[in-house]
Amino acid sequence: MDLDWKSLGFNIMKTDFNVRCVHRDGKWGELEVHSEETFPIHIGATCLHYGQESFEGLKAFRGADGHIRIFRHDENARRMSQSAKGILMAEVPQKLFIEAVEKVVLLNKEYVPPYGTGASLYIRPLLIGTGPEVGVRPSREYTFIVFVMPVGPYFKEGFKPVDIMICRDHDRAAPLGTGHLKVGGNYAASMSSILDAHQKGYATSLYLDAREKKYIDECGPANFFGIRDNTYVTPESHSILPSITNKSLQKLAESMGMKVEIRPVPVEELANFDEAGACGTAAVITPIRKVVDIEKEITYRFGDGENPGPVTSKLYETLTGIQNGDRKDPFGWTKILE
Ligand SMILES: *Cc1c(COP(=O)(O)O)cnc(C)c1O
Repeated sequence: MDLDWKSLGFNIMKTDFNVRCVHRDGKWGELEVHSEETFPIHIGATCLHYGQESFEGLKAFRGADGHIRIFRHDENARRMSQSAKGILMAEVPQKLFIEAVEKVVLLNKEYVPPYGTGASLYIRPLLIGTGPEVGVRPSREYTFIVFVMPVGPYFKEGFKPVDIMICRDHDRAAPLGTGHLKVGGNYAASMSSILDAHQKGYATSLYLDAREKKYIDECGPANFFGIRDNTYVTPESHSILPSITNKSLQKLAESMGMKVEIRPVPVEELANFDEAGACGTAAVITPIRKVVDIEKEITYRFGDGENPGPVTSKLYETLTGIQNGDRKDPFGWTKILE
């Protein structure tokens, strides 16, 4: 494959194959291989009208040894089941999810970027209600699709701190809503506030808890963490999506001898952190330089205002090292496909 791997962004790109499976009459059919990027859909499909949609995002990496490694796809399988349950869709059995992910990666293995380019193969599983209903009720048919594309590092500038702003005029999820599920509706609800942040010159917006606006919630489409002394602090909230990256960073922090706290984090506590970051599959960690609370005219700054902090950097190096096979994988997080 002759691609300019180093200049890849985070964009849709056609690859050779995608895999699909349909749930009909109460059971899943055969896993099919397709090469086209489109599919016909009933105009009454519940995913189009009532948001019966869930997705996942994960990556495969090519190591220095030439092997392809997938990172924690069993966790994505579990999370997609939770999302499906949450919005009354048919659950994709974990075995089917794992089989589909591994199959689509191997079918498109030429698109797994070479080691050392910083690029990886992004894997996007999608579960949608494809049966028609016009009344508000769950679909009787579901389609599970997995497609892939090579992507560059999320931020072209590299592992550099960004500025974010606190969002006080929007919520991405209700206190007892679907914030803990990876469903499209949360993303639709977040778009205007993220655009607002971009227009004001910030990388993204930091959401506060929807009920009281007292505690830190989600950081754009990523989880938030702060580092203080020898402690890794990350918010606990029903409306935060349980990030697999965050869970992995917590394990690494513990293994480095740090304390891990998962609890409600009041906004003012931002003043106490030495370092802060956002985490998720796309960028792994986005270090945060400052958080601006425009309405309250407060700016919280982290580190030297220039470089990622030492703990954030160490966590980032360790996790990316495990993902691409440069480091030992003591937790058994990666699976070698070939
Ligand atoms: C997917 C997602 C994350 C990150 O989860 P990872 O498993 O680390 O990729 C964080 N927040 C939201 C809202 C998400 O949808």
